[in-house]
Parts: sequence; C-alpha cells; structure tokens
Amino acid sequence: MSNRYSISRLNTFRSCPYQYKLRYIDKVRISGESIEAFMGTLVHKALEILYSELLKGRILDKEEFLEIYSKHWSQKMNDDVFVVQENISKRQYLDKGAKMLAEYYDTNHPFNEGEILGLELEVNVPLGQAIDARFRGVIDKVVRHEDGRFEIHDYKAGRMPKHHEHGHEDQLALYQIGIEALYPEAVGNTELVWYYLKFPKIIRVKKSTEELADLMSDTISRIKEVEAATIFQRKRSYLCQWCEYKPIFCQSDEYKEGCLGDECLSDKCLNDDCLDDECKTDINTGGGSCSSQEHAPTSNLPKPGACSHQEGLNE
Ligand code: SF4
Repeated sequence: MSNRYSISRLNTFRSCPYQYKLRYIDKVRISGESIEAFMGTLVHKALEILYSELLKGRILDKEEFLEIYSKHWSQKMNDDVFVVQENISKRQYLDKGAKMLAEYYDTNHPFNEGEILGLELEVNVPLGQAIDARFRGVIDKVVRHEDGRFEIHDYKAGRMPKHHEHGHEDQLALYQIGIEALYPEAVGNTELVWYYLKFPKIIRVKKSTEELADLMSDTISRIKEVEAATIFQRKRSYLCQWCEYKPIFCQSDEYKEGCLGDECLSDKCLNDDCLDDECKTDINTGGGSCSSQEHAPTSNLPKPGACSHQEGLNE
C-alpha cells in the first residue's frame, strides 16, 4: 500500500530525519502527552461540539459550552500528561483554554457565519500520477457563504507565527486543493482562515491558482525526497527541547554533534506551543519575541523506559 503523508509528517522529516524515522518508520511511541497538546485537543473538541449542536439547530449557551470543555478536561486528564514549563500549573492551562473559548464565543455568537459543510472533515489531496503516495488532512471546519464563497477554518490554541507566510500556510493551502477537488465551484473562490484563539486574532489568506500549483509541485518533491531517504541523521535544534524521544534516544554525549547548545534554549518564541502572554503584545505589534518565560526543558518530560512500539501509526 502506498504511504500516506500529512504536512506534519513532511515537516518532521525536514526538522529532524531521525525523529521522522522513529515516529513514522520504526513507529516508536512514547507514552505521555504535553499539556499544550492536551489543551489544544480539548479546545478543538469543545468547538466541534458547539458547531455539531448548531447543525442540529441548537446554540449552546456560553456556560454550557465552557462546562463541556472543563468536563472533558476532568474526564481525560491523566498522569501521562506532562508539563514542560514548571512554573505553569495544569490548572493554569485549563483556565487559558477556557479564556480562549469564552472570547471565541463572545466574538462569534450567534455563529451565523454560513453553511457548515463539514467539521473535522477528512480530505485527500490529489497528488496525480507522478507519485505512488497519498496525502490526507483533517479540516476543522469548512463553510460556504450565501454568495458562494468557501472558507477553510483552522483553530490554533498555541502561538501565532511572527510572519504568516510561506510554510505556515501550506497545510490549509493543500487542504484547499482537496476541497476544490470535492467542490469544483470552490476553485478560485476559497479563503483560508486561521483563528489564533489565544490573542485572539483572525488571519485570512487567498491563494492563487499559480501559488497552489507551485505548492503541489513542491509537496510532491518533498514526498519524493522522503521516499528516497536511506539515512536519517539526528538534526539538533531548539526543537529538541520538546522532542519526546530526547530522553531515550538522544541524551548521550556522543549525540551532541550539531547541537545548538544554550543559545537555542533562549530562542523562546520559536516554540509553537508557547503560552507566554507577553507574546500577545509583541506579535500583535509585529515586534520582537516574548520576554518573560524561559522554556526550560527537562524534568517533567516523559521518562526513559516509557516507550513502546505502536503498530499502525501511519499518519
Ligand atoms: S532530540 Fe533532537 S536530534 Fe533527537 S530525535 Fe529529537 S529532534 Fe531529533
């Protein structure tokens, strides 16, 4: 069967081929989930339920909406959820998620943004005959307006990139190609919409046919590069701080080659899951990086020995 790709799979190969091998080829799974990922999943879940109820003709009131979020939090929380930033408690993350959802509710109520065509909609992006591979993604929400415009919505509970440009937009742009394959009337009539819930801020982007063609060509080249790879080197970077494999596979001194050292540890705003409130000011003004939190790694990360091989992990 041909391999199935996603943008996160391709990005993993680009950021560290060794991490790619562990995750997608050897299928090594480390037990544990970061609190940021846990919170993001539950924020998405609450929004999915909000709109599912809307499709049934019912608008949840705000208290009910927030109660759904906190109830899922209590039900799903477990000891495998780890906090990297020791100075932020799980309770504070719960509150941050609730604040994002409350602001989203206030801003978007009564949610009459158009016809909802899909929630958590799985799309296949046609790669053509040039390559034996599949590319899939899951879209948070697809909306069609009365005037025929399509929108592809994506919720972000983490940080907002300082420069919303090439790379950050590839995922939704590829999903646009998948949506246009499903709805031919969406061609040239689709907008990509990111909801940065923490700030809160909405970014809207339209991609031209030429831009989408270039992206498709680039994506096929990236897939070919991955498929042809036989050597998967460790690629040390600031991202190692949040890598679940570090305690088990990359702790030894013999792997220090290429490490960016302490310098990368101070490169704070590069963390996709940064929750530093001071980012809000800096990013919204287009200025520098956040200034108050050290993203000190380590002690709360998953413990060595907690790994297992997960069959069927095939994103
Ligand atoms: S710790 Fe760094 S070098 Fe090791 S697998 Fe993770 S990202 Fe790659």
